[in-house]
Amino acid sequence: MKTVINVLLLVTLLVGCSGRDASPIPRNIVIMIGDGMGLGQITAGRTAKGSLELEQFTHIGLLLTQAYGDDYITDSAAAATAISTGVATFNGMIGMGPDSLPRTTILERAKALGKKTGIVTVCSITHATPASFVAHTPSREMELEIARQISQAGVDLCLGSGWGWFMPKSAGGRREDGRNLLEEMRRRGYVVVTTDSTFRTLTDLPAVNIMGLFAENHVGKAHERKPTLAELTRYALETLSLAEGGFVLMVEGSQIDWASHDNRSDEIVDEMVDFDGAVGEVVRFAQKHSETLIIVTSDHETAGYTLLNGSVSGKWVQGGFATHYHTGVMVPLFALGPGAERFTGIRPNTDVGAILMEMLK
Ligand SMILES: [Zn+2]
Repeated sequence: MKTVINVLLLVTLLVGCSGRDASPIPRNIVIMIGDGMGLGQITAGRTAKGSLELEQFTHIGLLLTQAYGDDYITDSAAAATAISTGVATFNGMIGMGPDSLPRTTILERAKALGKKTGIVTVCSITHATPASFVAHTPSREMELEIARQISQAGVDLCLGSGWGWFMPKSAGGRREDGRNLLEEMRRRGYVVVTTDSTFRTLTDLPAVNIMGLFAENHVGKAHERKPTLAELTRYALETLSLAEGGFVLMVEGSQIDWASHDNRSDEIVDEMVDFDGAVGEVVRFAQKHSETLIIVTSDHETAGYTLLNGSVSGKWVQGGFATHYHTGVMVPLFALGPGAERFTGIRPNTDVGAILMEMLK
């Protein structure tokens, strides 16, 4: 009997070691995208805040961001599609390869595996970055179609804004097809909330299958937003973690990019500190749920934002800008949790999607 057990043990060990990659597989994956977030934005945020939650991450890498077709400067759609599907595509495309065929996203793969899925953002959920995790359209401008696809995608939790894209013109929305996609979702069992006060009534009663859209189109800047990105993220983690099989959640700090486009150093700092607050929520969750992998990265750097002067003790920076648009420099990636070691080194951004897809096999 003892020999049999020993042989079984040996077989188990051999099988365990013979895999191409013995890296652990996370149960939960949280991918956090600071839109437009480069090292300038991160350093500015750190100077203002004193230290960042990001500093707790154990593994750091760099991502090349170039889009398909030798397009040196990516947009958010191509970059988010690379991260969500592992496929390089043309600028402007959402969840599609350069052949205009849909590609499976990590959220779709997770759902097929029986995991819960979620999206948290502080812009319209139909905007390029969140859309690329759920929808498939040849153009990021097709927000009415993106809304229709999101409403039918079966994502368990969507928290962001942009209810206008889901509602008919007769109800103050933007749809000319007369459909009320939020009402359709409500009938399929979703809890739909559009105000901060209603959202707060839910916090004692976490609802899986929630659609929370807190503005007709985009929500305001960091200090105006209610609920905050950190609150939305905490709620998402509490809700999604109720399920047994784990979850995949995408969290976006959407407006680091917009502050950079506007060349507003003070707003970059606000948005960066705000995003880092959400990172802290996820890190604290992962400390209690060690089977959680967290990836924090960016789709591209915006504005060639750099720091010309500053004071650590005074907590201020003097920013400088090279452009109002995106740049082609590499962006950092921070990883923490099971499998984090797979994301180090210099890699194309498609590797993020490809590795996550492998983890979701
Ligand atoms: Zn972007």
